[in-house]
This record gives sequence, structure tokens and C-alpha cells, in this order.
Amino acid sequence: MPDKVNKSNEEWQKELTPEQYHVLREKGTERAFTGEYYNHKGEGIYKCAACGQELFSSDTKYESGSGWPSFYAPIGEDRVEKERDTSLGMIRTEVLCSSCHSHLGHVFDDGPAPTGERFCMNSISLKFEEK
Ligand code: FE
Repeated sequence: MPDKVNKSNEEWQKELTPEQYHVLREKGTERAFTGEYYNHKGEGIYKCAACGQELFSSDTKYESGSGWPSFYAPIGEDRVEKERDTSLGMIRTEVLCSSCHSHLGHVFDDGPAPTGERFCMNSISLKFEEK
């Protein structure tokens, strides 16, 4: 696991595209069915687009129909942090990268077995690496 990454907003702005910065560092959401990975197949690892930490395996990716890439589990529970999110008049659980604290998406409890969790991620927060 990489070391904890702690960069200033200025540094992140230099490294990320404006679209990535908006989602990863300002908790934005890409529009459904527009991202690179919602319908993406292939065996490999989805890493954090900001810091490179390995987050999700294609083994746990499934078709949720939501328009965002969905997984039923991270590679390890230590790869993500969960925080209560009450924005937009909803109570949701935000998912962040545990290494760089970038916003990844949200987790819901309507996922498939074996976990029952649906990690609903923004494509732009992820970077796929083929096995
Ligand atoms: Fe990260």
C-alpha cells in the first residue's frame, strides 16, 4: 500500500484535469452513462486516478444498470474510507480513497451477494490497469 498522500489543492490542480479535480477533490459526480468504465469489461485492477492506490478488482465488478461502474467490494477494506454524506438532501455514505482522501463515489446497501454492498464509483476517479 502506498504511503498516505497529502497534497495541497494547488498541487492537485496541477496534476489532475479540471474534470478529475472537480470529482476527486470537490466531490463532484460525473453524469450517469457518460464515464469510461460503467460498461467496461476486462480483467485487471481499478486504481485511484489521483494517487494510484489499487482499489477494486474486475472480479468484483458487476452490471448494476446505474450508469456508473459498480463493485460489490474493494480489494481490501483498508483501501477505502466511508463517511456520512448529507448533501443534496439525502443521507448517503461517501467513499474516499484511504491513501489520498479523494472522493470516489458512494456505497449503497442494495448490492449483490456476497457483501450486499454496491460501490457506485465515478469512472473519472479510477484508472484501469489490465492484468
Ligand atoms: Fe487515492
